[in-house]
Amino acid sequence: MTQIQSALKSVCASLQEGVELVAVSKTKPVALLLEAYEAGQRDFGENKVQEMALKAATMPEDIRWHMIGHVQTNKIKYMAPFVHLVHGVDREKVLKELDKQAKKVSRIIDCLLQVHIAQEETKFGWSVAELEALLPHMSLYPNVRVRGLMGMASNTDDEHQVRREFLDLNDLYKKHAQAQHWDTLSIGMSGDYAIAMECGATHVRIGSAVFGARNDAP
Ligand SMILES: *Cc1c(COP(=O)(O)O)cnc(C)c1O
Repeated sequence: MTQIQSALKSVCASLQEGVELVAVSKTKPVALLLEAYEAGQRDFGENKVQEMALKAATMPEDIRWHMIGHVQTNKIKYMAPFVHLVHGVDREKVLKELDKQAKKVSRIIDCLLQVHIAQEETKFGWSVAELEALLPHMSLYPNVRVRGLMGMASNTDDEHQVRREFLDLNDLYKKHAQAQHWDTLSIGMSGDYAIAMECGATHVRIGSAVFGARNDAP
């Protein structure tokens, strides 16, 4: 068993039943993704459309590709034919373009609405008020199907704060889940997924704990 395969195995063993692992493989070469694939992993997350498209073209077709990053609208056409779930939908322009490109390839593309839960100014996403104003108008985008919410907690050692941010998002999720037919709450990364699972995560996005540290800036 390779190092990645044993890291994957221990991460999987630490997941609560029913929680899906999105293995975040951004910046990592295909050979390493294939090690995870051979160990059974099928859901991979990338944060750049072109990198994801290149990897998808050379890797097995049963992989489910998750776009987890900030989406540039002019790149959406490259992922529309194959992307499984777009986690980071954070503005109306993205919804509009996703809908347009999905229609072109006769698909309905699943996505998550990213809510701004962290204290940092830099994190993308809708505020609660903006999100609730948007929901009644989703029929404007018939080729986009919202499956739930995504969020990133503050980058802090303060576990109470992280928990509070996740719990607030879970409250918002639960408030609308039934009426909106939502089934996905994507919260939790390598450093905070244990907390996220206590706060209702259905999907965790884990990179470095599986593939090792990256050289990129966080
Ligand atoms: C990189 C990234 C992750 C994974 O981060 P790790 O700390 O390596 O687990 C999760 N979510 C998003 C949006 C990311 O950009």
